Amino acid sequence: MTTDNAGTPVRMAGSIADITKRKGAEEALIAAKEDAERANNAKSEFLSSMSHELRTPLNAVLGFTQLLSNDPGHPLSARQKDATDQVLKSGDHLLSLIEEVLDLAQIETGKASLDLEPQDPAPIIRSCAKIARNLADQKGLGFHDQTTGWSLPKITIDETRFQQALLNLLSNAVKYNHKDGTVTLSVEKAGNGSLRISVSDSGIGIAKEKQGQVFEAFSRLGHENSDIGGTGIGLTITKDLVEAMGGAIGFESTQNFGSTFWLEFPIVSGALSEKNGAAPVTAVAAAPTAVPGNDTSPKVKHTVLCVEDNPSSLKLMKMIIDRIPGVSMISAHTGELGVDMAEIHRPDLIFMDINLPGMNGFQALERLKASKTTQDIPVVALTALASNREREQGLQSGFEYYLTKPFKVEEISAVLQRSLH
Ligand code: ADP
Repeated sequence: MTTDNAGTPVRMAGSIADITKRKGAEEALIAAKEDAERANNAKSEFLSSMSHELRTPLNAVLGFTQLLSNDPGHPLSARQKDATDQVLKSGDHLLSLIEEVLDLAQIETGKASLDLEPQDPAPIIRSCAKIARNLADQKGLGFHDQTTGWSLPKITIDETRFQQALLNLLSNAVKYNHKDGTVTLSVEKAGNGSLRISVSDSGIGIAKEKQGQVFEAFSRLGHENSDIGGTGIGLTITKDLVEAMGGAIGFESTQNFGSTFWLEFPIVSGALSEKNGAAPVTAVAAAPTAVPGNDTSPKVKHTVLCVEDNPSSLKLMKMIIDRIPGVSMISAHTGELGVDMAEIHRPDLIFMDINLPGMNGFQALERLKASKTTQDIPVVALTALASNREREQGLQSGFEYYLTKPFKVEEISAVLQRSLH
């Protein structure tokens, strides 16, 4: 033991002070971690409720504008149509921003749950290729799918998120292309033994000095004021997702000549091999797009009940349903009233909001399903609660369909068509 000149032990006292300091630092660290977690949770709750609050008015803006711009009884002049098209375009842009910012926040706060599984990515690539071919056709671009002749190895991915990542690359390749350009989708084995899925375009490319900002959030690299719509978050989300799945993303690009973006995932089992006599991938027939208002079937009288507390949303539904011959709408502004009206009127279909004052949409659904009179009436959720988790929860609870606001007028027509005929 070391003592000082007066014979007092000093080393022991010094070591007790050190432990106290370390303990204090540990506690401060734990408190800081808890603070950060609380802030993170508050942030994602705030974003989720903002998304809900923004969707409801946007639903009215987009819905009424769609009705206005497509009213067979009162066609608009070219100038008016041009104006409503601008409202629709900006509204759609605002909606993409809301969706993407929320998605990014969920991924970055670790709230996006990934369902990772080793699987053959071929079916997902095929469905992405089908969507991309449609997008390319609409813009008059050539689309070459060079993946169909290959058997693919298994990689560990979340199906939905992998699809989202690949679709983002494909839609960018279409968006940032030249007139008469081409988009090519291909697969190969990367140098590190991973499976590489590449999307090449013969488009406008990215200048060398801007390439460092490609994955930065909100960077549009000079397209902010161009006609090409976008938010600048797609690739940020894609990179976060791909890395969360254990993959990597990269690109090379030459201004005015085009770009190649690729995704790489470690191979879990199997190998990339050429198929012998591979049959071309056949397109699946598109779903019929008939609108009830246009059909010539006999006029049956149907009643639809709309349970909704927002007056604008209710008015919008009324205007949509009024356009459909043979269908009339009744409404209730609370869940309790909705359940009572369903008992009395026995409607053919119910549209149910979820965030209602008092009894919410889930509770109202439960009551409807528990009653002999109303249990067989299909109930469709129509809500601004739009996350994947909320949608899954809604479908599991027994809603026939789960539609999110802002909805497209055709979506409502299609649900009526399917449920009533
Ligand atoms: P957005 O397309 O919504 O702007 P992204 O995050 O998907 O957002 O892309 C960010 C930016 O990267 C785009 O604004 C564009 O400038 C550039 N970019 C992305 N893909 C391509 C491509 N295939 N060719 C040229 N530029 C591209």
